[in-house]
Amino acid sequence: MNTPNVQEASLRCPYCNTEHQHNLYAIVDLVENPSLKLGLLTDSLFSVHCSECDNQFVVMHEMLVVDKGASFAILLAPDSTLTEVIKPSEIGHYETLRLVHSSDELKEKILLSDAGLDDKTIELCKMYLLMKMERKAHTLLYADHQGFASQMLFTLFNEKDEIQETIQCSDGLYTQLLKTAEEFSLKKGYFLHIGQAWAFNEIKNSVG
Ligand SMILES: [Zn+2]
Repeated sequence: MNTPNVQEASLRCPYCNTEHQHNLYAIVDLVENPSLKLGLLTDSLFSVHCSECDNQFVVMHEMLVVDKGASFAILLAPDSTLTEVIKPSEIGHYETLRLVHSSDELKEKILLSDAGLDDKTIELCKMYLLMKMERKAHTLLYADHQGFASQMLFTLFNEKDEIQETIQCSDGLYTQLLKTAEEFSLKKGYFLHIGQAWAFNEIKNSVG
């Protein structure tokens, strides 16, 4: 696939109705286009600045993010409720196939891969933390790993998706749960949504 996986689209500013031409990336290859990673991590690939009224608006669309180096492919399917999508044969082999529903989830997966952390284990850590805090309806997103303090930081969101606070998690908990996560086998050939619902189900099934 040597054709640039970019589509030019006409978008209307929701504030002033001015039409803009914007590049939509159907496929982002982080090895061929490393600069796009910053665009994903800062959300700039998903936002358009209107030169007419100076407002910023969000453009969400389906996108495939691949990294041959780290051997992962992440399918972003915004607003989807699917938990798995079969991988089309024209997409090459990748060790890790993930499905995400938002740009925040996409960012989290990229950050975890960069930090060399296993996302399945991270979901188990989140579940443990939420149960301990008795906030099962809240959500956590990985934010950072602080090597000097041997801890990870998570951002806590309430049911309305509003940021609540930063939660610390020791590396010890991660190491402890890594073994458990390795016992859960994943379906091959599918983009899988590995989130909190996945972790709850796996634990429920393993307990019997
Ligand atoms: Zn505008």
